[in-house]
Amino acid sequence: MAANWVWSGKIGTEIGLLPIYSSTVDFNEYVFPDPDKTTYVMDLNLEAANRNLHGKSLISTVNTSGKPLAELWLTMYPNAFRLDSETPAPPDAYYSGFNPGGAEVKSLTVNGQETVIMYEGISLGVILGYDIMMDERIDIAIEWTVKVPRASYRLGTKNGTYMLSAFYPQLNVLDANGWKKSYNSKFGDPFCSHSAEYLVHLDIPEQYVPIGMPVIEQTMPEDNGRQRYTMSGKKWRSFALALMFDYSAEVVTLNKTSIRCFVPGRKSQEAKVYAEKAKQILNYFNGAYGSYPYKELNIVFVPMKGFQGMEHSGLVFINDEFLEDENLNDQQITLTLAHEIAHQWWYGVVGNDQMQEPWLDEGLANWSAYKYYINNENGSRPALVAAYPRNLARGLNSFSSRDEYYKGVYNNGAQFWFELENQVGEEKMTMILHRYWADYQYKIATTQDLFNAIHKEVPKNIDAFLNKWFF
Ligand SMILES: [Zn+2]
Repeated sequence: MAANWVWSGKIGTEIGLLPIYSSTVDFNEYVFPDPDKTTYVMDLNLEAANRNLHGKSLISTVNTSGKPLAELWLTMYPNAFRLDSETPAPPDAYYSGFNPGGAEVKSLTVNGQETVIMYEGISLGVILGYDIMMDERIDIAIEWTVKVPRASYRLGTKNGTYMLSAFYPQLNVLDANGWKKSYNSKFGDPFCSHSAEYLVHLDIPEQYVPIGMPVIEQTMPEDNGRQRYTMSGKKWRSFALALMFDYSAEVVTLNKTSIRCFVPGRKSQEAKVYAEKAKQILNYFNGAYGSYPYKELNIVFVPMKGFQGMEHSGLVFINDEFLEDENLNDQQITLTLAHEIAHQWWYGVVGNDQMQEPWLDEGLANWSAYKYYINNENGSRPALVAAYPRNLARGLNSFSSRDEYYKGVYNNGAQFWFELENQVGEEKMTMILHRYWADYQYKIATTQDLFNAIHKEVPKNIDAFLNKWFF
């Protein structure tokens, strides 16, 4: 997610306490679900007339948690949008007044057996009534319907464009510290997403193009005005989808990656400009950190209040106000685009718990965007407005405002990386990031894992420097 790049307002002081980073436990040893053993097969059917998205999911995995499981927890993010008083979408996202969204489960079985389900905020608990033993298979079959709110937001629809972030039931992560349950938040990304393999069958009105994961099969239009697509992706952190019917598109290629840019309306020049810009950014990060792993990178300009950009595996949403507002300059859109593309590395491939340690992906994505800008477009190092004290050991829910969160996580996070670079030099920085990338691909990295990567590459003792950022 990208913040606004120019900050104002008072500096926050509230501190949330998290554990000191001294543990040597390998939290990835028993992380559930295992990305290599987890598949999502989904049938999706959109009724555009009433904005109902009907889904059938089969989530297949194995109990790799290291202990018997008596319950399972999933995220049902659309339930954040039920009430005017609770929705994370800002008031101006509701262009025709508040309009509720939500998710309903029609049936849910685990290994063919009925279960008891309970809603807890945007999480869904599945009480099994028996234990699933270690290494036992788990097949979760869910029939569900999501009402997409009439809202310009990361989950919503406006002017024939659907923005579908975190729309389907997704298993929460369980590690040695317990279940990482998503919660509703007015700002930030309240998720800890695991990687998995996806196979998605999509049935939508024929005028729409689906953008999200590579399409491997497309049937001829049927008489009923609908079209079917099959999409698939391996090691996908999150599957998100944009549906558009009035758009301009440009496709450019870099090595084996198609970079596709979609802009609403007749704006083929803009589509071309930002496809080329995305290519330049992707090329820089490929060289700096490691090769982008997917066949497609989709950049889609969407109506989206509250964010300048939003990251998903293989798919980036950029706020379409960039295309209209002359006050938003080229620097802002370049930094936003670079920030979201950097998330393909930090968040997408190397994952982290965005609730407990949001600084890990946001700080690195921010710093990476600035590095791209400084090294390729003659940008200067930014003066980052901090939240004091500069404590990076803060979870999303320890922040009381969006502004404080951005300063504390994005700006302080980027500042950490600039200062680490001063400590160790550019060459060691490259080695640290290659190491972090190589060791934690498709896993959920922690701050301790990052410290381990730093310690492997930096022989001198820099613990005093590291510890001053975490307390
Ligand atoms: Zn971000």
